[in-house]
Amino acid sequence: MKEFEFLKAELDKMKENKTWQQMKQIETKQGPSVEVKGENVIQLSSNNYLGLTSHPRLVEAAKRAAEEFGAGTGSVRTIAGTFTMHNELEKKLANFKKTEAALVFQSGFTTNQGVLSSILTKEDIVISDELNHASIIDGIRLTKADKKVYRHVDMDDLERVLKKSMNYRMRLIVTDGVFSMDGNIAPLPDIVKLAEAYDAFVMVDDAHASGVLGKNGRGTVNHFGLDGRVHIQVGTLSKAIGVLGGYAAGSQVLIDYLRHKGRPFLFSTSHPPAVTAACIEAIDVLLEEPEHMEKLWENTAYFKDKLVQMGLTLTKSETPIVPILIGEEEKAQALSDLLLTRGVFAQSIVYPTVAQGKARIRTIITAEHTKEELDRALEVIRSAAKELQLV
Ligand SMILES: *Cc1c(COP(=O)(O)O)cnc(C)c1O
Repeated sequence: MKEFEFLKAELDKMKENKTWQQMKQIETKQGPSVEVKGENVIQLSSNNYLGLTSHPRLVEAAKRAAEEFGAGTGSVRTIAGTFTMHNELEKKLANFKKTEAALVFQSGFTTNQGVLSSILTKEDIVISDELNHASIIDGIRLTKADKKVYRHVDMDDLERVLKKSMNYRMRLIVTDGVFSMDGNIAPLPDIVKLAEAYDAFVMVDDAHASGVLGKNGRGTVNHFGLDGRVHIQVGTLSKAIGVLGGYAAGSQVLIDYLRHKGRPFLFSTSHPPAVTAACIEAIDVLLEEPEHMEKLWENTAYFKDKLVQMGLTLTKSETPIVPILIGEEEKAQALSDLLLTRGVFAQSIVYPTVAQGKARIRTIITAEHTKEELDRALEVIRSAAKELQLV
């Protein structure tokens, strides 16, 4: 059979410039430590901020739902795949986000695709932060709207673009709430002020902020006291919430529209009962067990402090995302490999996920890490960084 020679050539090139990666295989459940190749390693690379992936209440809810309602739903939402629990979760999410309504998609990725592709027309302009997540970029690509990118969190640049965009039906500003590769928070109060001054709409993707920032983890909008002033809040159920899925929250008009026009919502099967039931339970856990979020921030402060004391360079993170900047792809991969052999799972992030020459080890602290685990990880990082002459 004919081989994809042109694809192979590209893969070979990736191996050469060290952007080719082997996926690490986890042999136990996700948690503060996991087994990789039969060895116990401290997990510093998951998005399991609050440890909810294996919280007993979520697991129990999933089991019960599978037993009572089955393994799958057998249809898309709009035909025969809407169960009572799907609507219940959406009501809960709207309450949680303090909006009129919410709609669940299969993932955060498809939420951005569904929202952006359905509401933007050629009469509109979408104005996007240059470091927005790939799913926002791809969502924008699906539209006929004019597109402008403003420099990362640069409000003067955003205002410059807004000034030139007054003749469109809609100006839509889109930003990540927390930027996933650096851990900084979007300057949402300034963005909202500009939006109000220039009669624009605001969409915030809080994938890394839900469960992390705001009261009980309501996200950046609530964190900044901007409830009711942001038109579209996108969230994921796959990170701090610990399960799978994405959602858009906003006005009833917006949600009714998405329910009729959001293509991933319309043309892809609804979540299995176990997924939806676990998500419902997760929201209750956020409301009833604030101690996980408190522990998350306590662990983060401790871990960051110690890394800085070691002389490592971190990004200007304001969240539990703690990226250690390395620069060269090869060095970042070498450090990540060395850490793994010594019991620390800390994935290197290289081009194209981040810019070329800005490779990093991205660690994410979770509420479940014990002080003993953090200290052990810190000691391994210190000795490995020294050995590779990074400090
Ligand atoms: C992770 C992430 C997504 C995708 O969410 P999934 O539920 O994993 O598909 C979308 N947007 C941002 C900003 C993210 O960090």
